Amino acid sequence: MNSREKICLQCGTTYKVYHGFTEWCEFCDWNLNSNDEPEQLDMYEKIVRKIGDKYSKKLFATLMETDIEKYKHRNTLVATTTVVMSLLVVLVWLSLVVSSVLLLLLFPNIFAILGSVMCLLLVIYLRPRFSKKPKDGITKQEMPALWEFVESLNEKLGGKPIDYLVVNADFNASMGYVGIQRKKVLTLGYPLVSLLSKQEFVDLVGHELAHNVNQDPARGFLHYYVFTNVWAWYYFLSPKGIMQGSDVNYIFKIASIPFYVLMWCVSKIALGFLFVYYWMIHYDSQKAEYYADYLGASMGGSEDSEKSLYKLSYGLFLQYVQQQAVVAPNGKTIIQRLKEMIETIPEKEILRLQKLATRESSRVDSSHPPTTYRIEFVKKFAPKVGLFQLTQEHFHKICEELAQQEEKINIKLIDEYKWYIS
Ligand SMILES: [Zn+2]
Ligand SMILES: [Zn+2]
Repeated sequence: MNSREKICLQCGTTYKVYHGFTEWCEFCDWNLNSNDEPEQLDMYEKIVRKIGDKYSKKLFATLMETDIEKYKHRNTLVATTTVVMSLLVVLVWLSLVVSSVLLLLLFPNIFAILGSVMCLLLVIYLRPRFSKKPKDGITKQEMPALWEFVESLNEKLGGKPIDYLVVNADFNASMGYVGIQRKKVLTLGYPLVSLLSKQEFVDLVGHELAHNVNQDPARGFLHYYVFTNVWAWYYFLSPKGIMQGSDVNYIFKIASIPFYVLMWCVSKIALGFLFVYYWMIHYDSQKAEYYADYLGASMGGSEDSEKSLYKLSYGLFLQYVQQQAVVAPNGKTIIQRLKEMIETIPEKEILRLQKLATRESSRVDSSHPPTTYRIEFVKKFAPKVGLFQLTQEHFHKICEELAQQEEKINIKLIDEYKWYIS
């Protein structure tokens, strides 16, 4: 690995710089976080960090004392409150449906008809929207070994069968539901998966399947619906433009002040509701993440889980190799470059990422707890050796199947980067 020495301008000590990796001084932590945000934090940022740090510390401390066997991510005060808040929003929508029908009964009153049409338009605009089923789902014939593994791990975790399996170009993995029938979709990002060892892979897939066991995506859908719905209400109710416009008569302007004030207050109530709701669902989702971590790590083993949690922060290396593949093509795919980079990653860079993880602060609007908490949590509760042991042979077959996607994913990653810089 190419390296050279440099003298730190902050502490005067000599440190090593590795080509392609962030330059930092391990003696005084100069430039530890190269993407460091400016010192000047705005009001919102200060609040979300302050409350976030406090609650995520408290949540972590509480969970560390929990009897994990009895722990199930459900029916906490926060979760119940968000459900009540969600139902309120759904109720408002339903009342619009009822109103549009009732107003029609007053036919031929023209105002009633107009009111009914307005309600109907709102009903359509605020309707729940279901995401479509994935077009590029992997069939069992295409990847029998991967499907067999997912199904047997899911069975071991006690989850209902998965409907779709998607392999995409993200440095991530996720579990979601689509359509009115809420079909289950497991998505695995090939760049991330390609870096994992056998049991780390079990941990990652186990974590995502655990969300299904716990039915977290169902809650996620309701949250998403409420969030977009209330946001639309806020937008509707904000009295933008009423007081502006030079062609508006000033008597009309004065007369509309009470209306303006009223709309302003109502819209701010919607906005306040939105923030509180947003923070609560993220607090709730941090709990869900811990539980999914626990189940995933029980399958893969806590030692491998720790490694896979750290690897989640390697997404920035993908960005680097994407850039390199476009700027200086050498015939290798982005995934090959990424693997090479990870294999030769200097100790110093791993230390930097681990140090960064320990400093990660929590925000109330963050869906995941800080990595160090997650690691400590799985270390305490999950067994060192996983309960689900994938055989080397089976893992090898899965890797071969996944590798068939490499060319397609490579093109996608290159296009993605070109689009990004264009
Ligand atoms: Zn220094
Ligand atoms: Zn998760």
